[in-house]
This record gives sequence, C-alpha cells and structure tokens, in this order.
Amino acid sequence: MINLILFGPPGSGKGTQAAKLVDKYRLVHISTGDLFRYEMGNDTPLGLEAKGYMDKGQLVPDSVTIGMLKNKVDSCPDVEGFIFDGFPRTIPQAEALNELLESMDTSVSALISLDVHDDEIVARLLERGKTSGRKDDANEEVIRKRIEVYESETSPVYDYYAQSGKSMKINGIGSLDDIFGRLSDAIDNL
Ligand code: AMP
Repeated sequence: MINLILFGPPGSGKGTQAAKLVDKYRLVHISTGDLFRYEMGNDTPLGLEAKGYMDKGQLVPDSVTIGMLKNKVDSCPDVEGFIFDGFPRTIPQAEALNELLESMDTSVSALISLDVHDDEIVARLLERGKTSGRKDDANEEVIRKRIEVYESETSPVYDYYAQSGKSMKINGIGSLDDIFGRLSDAIDNL
C-alpha cells in the first residue's frame, strides 16, 4: 500500500491536489474536513458537535476525529492506499494513525507538505470564501485562528514524521499543474 499524508496550512491546496492525485495513483482520498462537513450537512450529532469548533477555527477534539477517521478507513477494505488530507493535525492523531496502519500491516509512506506563506493563504481563503459557502473561509479572524492552530498544534506533526525520514516539503506556489508535477515527482521517487 501507499499511504500519503498531504500536509500544509489551510488553503495550501491539499484538497485540490489530492483530487488530482487520486486519479493518477488510484488511492482513496480521506479528508476529515470533508467528512465533518458531510456530517454537518446532515445535522447528525457528530456534525453538530464538530460545527461548534469548525466555525471558530478550532480543532475538533482528537477522540471524536480519530474515531471518525478509523470508521472511514475500516469502510475501505482492499484498497491500494490512502491520501490523508487534513489528518493527522495533532501528535496524538499521528500516533493513532500509525497504530491503525500497523494493525493493517502497513505504515505511512510519506508526509508531503505544501509550502505556502501566510499572506498568500489568507488571500486564497478569503477568495475561496466568496464561493465555497464555508463559514470558516469568510471571516479573516477565523482564518488567522486556523493558521495559528496550524502553527501551534499541527506543524509539530511534520517534525514527528521527520524523525523517521518521512517528511518532505514541496513549493506550494505556482500553477495547479506545476504543483501537481512536483508532487508526482516526489511520489514517484518514494
Ligand atoms: P479543513 O477542511 O481540513 O480545512 O478542515 C476544516 C475544519 O474541520 C478545521 O478547521 C477543524 O475545525 C476541523 N478538522 C478537520 N480535520 C481535523 C482534524 N484532523 N482534527 C481536528 N479538527 C479537524
């Protein structure tokens, strides 16, 4: 199996690139943000719980997020691998992912981080907020909060996988195709 973590701050292009990578490498794309939005759209108890955190730009608690992720992975037997997008976002989530994959006799192949500076991210997210319908994209204060949470809680996950030589950075600025080319090169060299 190939199990990739597509990493980077909000608005770095993870979701867009993951959709293109899925076609090329036949992997299953799991975005915890998309899973939460689906639950919210259906007004489920999980969705209602997540909404309170998402609207403020905070992380949904690990226990909730890890449980949801495990259910999703378990519902995809016999696949060639996964692209995790927006997960893991904390060290406990990374530890839980490692355990889960180990129980399936596999592991994280690589964490690829899309490198984009803060000003570009805020501009991209505000632009996306005009059409995405996402409350957390429409408000600059919430966007800044998400970046702050990324820096304090999520960026340590990069260092966590760097300890086993699995983390790498890709320049996340440029055309969609340029960035896709850089990602494909990195994956082909794994
Ligand atoms: P995203 O679509 O990845 O930008 O995620 C949108 C929001 O969903 C985040 O700001 C969090 O509130 C929540 N979320 C998504 N993934 C996670 C995660 N792995 N851990 C905690 N919260 C998450």
